[in-house]
Amino acid sequence: MAHAAEGISVVYLDYNATAPLRQQALDAMLTTFATVGNASSVHQPGRGAAARVDTARRQVAELLGCASGEIVFTSGATEANNLALRAAHASGGTIVTTAVEHPAVLETARYLTGGTPDSLVVLPVDVDGRFDLDSLNWTLQSHRIAVISIMLANNETGILTDLRSVIECAHEAGVLIHTDATQYVGRLPIDVDELDVDLLSLSAHKFGGPQGVGALVMRRGTSLPHRPLLVGGGQERGWRAGTLNVPGIVGLGAAAEAARLRIHEEAVRVTELRDRLEATLIARLPECRINGSRVPRLPGVTSVTFPGTPADAVLAAMPEVAASDGSACASGAPTPSHVLLAMGLTRDDAESTIRFSMGYATTERDVERAVEATERAVQHVRSVLAATGEPLAGVRATAHV
Ligand code: PMP
Repeated sequence: MAHAAEGISVVYLDYNATAPLRQQALDAMLTTFATVGNASSVHQPGRGAAARVDTARRQVAELLGCASGEIVFTSGATEANNLALRAAHASGGTIVTTAVEHPAVLETARYLTGGTPDSLVVLPVDVDGRFDLDSLNWTLQSHRIAVISIMLANNETGILTDLRSVIECAHEAGVLIHTDATQYVGRLPIDVDELDVDLLSLSAHKFGGPQGVGALVMRRGTSLPHRPLLVGGGQERGWRAGTLNVPGIVGLGAAAEAARLRIHEEAVRVTELRDRLEATLIARLPECRINGSRVPRLPGVTSVTFPGTPADAVLAAMPEVAASDGSACASGAPTPSHVLLAMGLTRDDAESTIRFSMGYATTERDVERAVEATERAVQHVRSVLAATGEPLAGVRATAHV
């Protein structure tokens, strides 16, 4: 689906940064915006708002395969991750996580623990982005663990984690498991009951809900010290004080339901689009490399390295395509992606990598246009590089056409 932005029609391939709002979410939110009611009020409008929140809670629970009562609505995955780690770490102990987590986990873990080797273990990953199970087992034996926090799918590469093996070890050792499932939820089927994690974070806008709303799933029976981030109201069983964002929650619920109803078809269709994008890029630019291509990945995500071709210059040379050079949360920062570096890419290769992420509204035509634009832009940047003989930084300055 093409989107109009500043007079040009833009192919939007940045679903991992944020997905377009689903029509069902927009419709449900517009209706809610037009009604009054605080979900905590006992009068009729308040009860109406509470009923809308209940419906949304059920819709999210159905997408996840958990109970409605296990969901705590938050402002997104960043807050859900903070809430999960803060509560899980309240009684001390080591936080175990991986080198490719989103900053909302990595930085929170560093903040809570001080980042000393005893208090925080960041598991390295291999060239395929997978962490080492032996290191995890050793850590489990040698530390008193507060929580293991490992993402279900990586936001930059789409690489999926084999959480089952972790969960077995963790539960045997009586250790809590948190997963940041932000990029997974709504894209692939999930059953939280079967997955058997204790805590799970999600964000609505990654699968067609509104920005600024998400949830933390806290499984029943999980014993956690009560350490909310926000206090001053009894909402969300005391875990998240403040008037509920009823329109946002309603949008999250509607997006969850829309995603659930088509999740298998969408996953198959979007995987085909991703495969086609990769095959045509490789055919036209044979030196490009797909990061994580040997391991299972999310349907719509591809991380492509164009060696020697700075990604920001390539993106600047193809304004008709919205893609990303590193995660959107990190862009603006001059450092290369910590995820790609952790997977062993050189700094230059990490800076020459573009993430294309597709989703429910992406079309075949979008993929064709993106491939054409990428081929043109990569060749343009290379010709500038060849003509000037400039180092990467010089190309960045001259390639903004
Ligand atoms: N975790 C992951 C894996 C993400 O991709 C993101 C969003 N980039 C977040 C957490 C944070 O989500 P939000 O900004 O919606 O709070």
